[in-house]
Amino acid sequence: MLHKNVVKLLNEQVNKELFSAYLYLDMANYYAKEGLNGFENWFKIQAMEERDHAMLFRQYLLNNGHEVKFTAIADPSRDYKNHKEPLTGALEHEHYVTDSIHAIYTEAVAVKDYRTMQFLDWFVKEQGEEEMNAEDNIRKYELAGERALFMLDHAFAGRSYSAPSLELD
Ligand code: MG
Repeated sequence: MLHKNVVKLLNEQVNKELFSAYLYLDMANYYAKEGLNGFENWFKIQAMEERDHAMLFRQYLLNNGHEVKFTAIADPSRDYKNHKEPLTGALEHEHYVTDSIHAIYTEAVAVKDYRTMQFLDWFVKEQGEEEMNAEDNIRKYELAGERALFMLDHAFAGRSYSAPSLELD
C-alpha cells in the first residue's frame, strides 16, 4: 500500500492526463476545421499518448491495491485565434504537467516512497521530451510561417503512434 497523500495525487494525475488527451484532441479539432490535417494528426497522436499516460497511472494504483477514483474532466475548448496559439498553449500545458509530476515526486520523497519515485522516473524523463517537442513545434512554425505552413503540415502528417516504452500489467 502507498501513502494516502501519494495515492490522492496519483488519482488526480489520472484526471490530468485524461484532460491532456481531451485538450489535445480539441486542438486536433481546431486544425481539422482549418484544413491542416497534418497538425490534426500530430495532436491526435499526442492525445493517444496522454490516454496511455492515464492508463499507466491507473494501472500503477491498481497494482498497489488502491482504488481508482474518477472525477469529471474539464471542458478543454479554447477559442484559438491563429495557428500558433495551440502550439504555445501546448507548451504551457506541458509545463503545468511537469510541475504536477514533480509535486507527486516531492511527496513520494517526503514519505520515503521509493517505489513511486522509480515509477515516476519514466514520467520525469517523458516530460523533458514533451517540453522539447512542444518547443520544437513552435520553432518550426516560426521558421515556416503561414506561407510555408503546408510544408510543416506535410511533415506533421508523418507522425505515427507508438505505445509508451513503460509497460505495466
Ligand atoms: Mg502526459
